Amino acid sequence: MRTIAQKMKAAVLDIFYPRLCIACGSYGAWVCEPCAQKLPACSFGVASRQAQGIPCHAVYSYDSNMVRTIVHALKYEGVKELATFMSCAMSRWWRKNSVLNVLPLDRSILIPIPLHIKKLRERGWNQAELIAHELGSQLGVSVESGALIRTKNTQPQSSLSRQERILNMKDAFLCVPTASMEGKIIILIDDVATTGATLNQAASALRMRGGTDIRGFVCARGDQA
Ligand SMILES: [Zn+2]
Repeated sequence: MRTIAQKMKAAVLDIFYPRLCIACGSYGAWVCEPCAQKLPACSFGVASRQAQGIPCHAVYSYDSNMVRTIVHALKYEGVKELATFMSCAMSRWWRKNSVLNVLPLDRSILIPIPLHIKKLRERGWNQAELIAHELGSQLGVSVESGALIRTKNTQPQSSLSRQERILNMKDAFLCVPTASMEGKIIILIDDVATTGATLNQAASALRMRGGTDIRGFVCARGDQA
């Protein structure tokens, strides 16, 4: 329950920064309910289409302009409350789909895909970490943010071809194993996956340090991946 101070802060913020739906401009929420209902599901969200690599589950299709706009607003425009919208969509999806809802919550751990320290300083927040923490508290699953380090300040994947993306992400991560990871099912969390190269490289780093059961869960994924 929100305290009076929190309610007052929200009311003041609402006057200066009113929440307007990113898709239709209506007042009240960053993504209004009718627009949220229209967001297209990822056509292969339940099973990964990749022959190699970790299974990657996704809620929405990244081929939708509306989904891209929402992701962009969280990542680059600082609308951090969109992490709540995304994590709620992800926790609903988790509870509904047997690829995830059969996992024992106490034996699972969420690891957000880290940003390189330089990029984190420039941007000021890591959208994957915001999503992972909200998702973790909604589901009751622990989050381990310090287990993966991004050692390579990679180019944005969106500007590269499929082959270049794989090369760009090669050896981009280092795993610093923690006691809380031991024997756990690791779920890598990110806002978006396209080819899956980022998730697969992060999984390789975890495997080198003993991680075995690793999968990815993202808010949006391209249908053409
Ligand atoms: Zn709307």
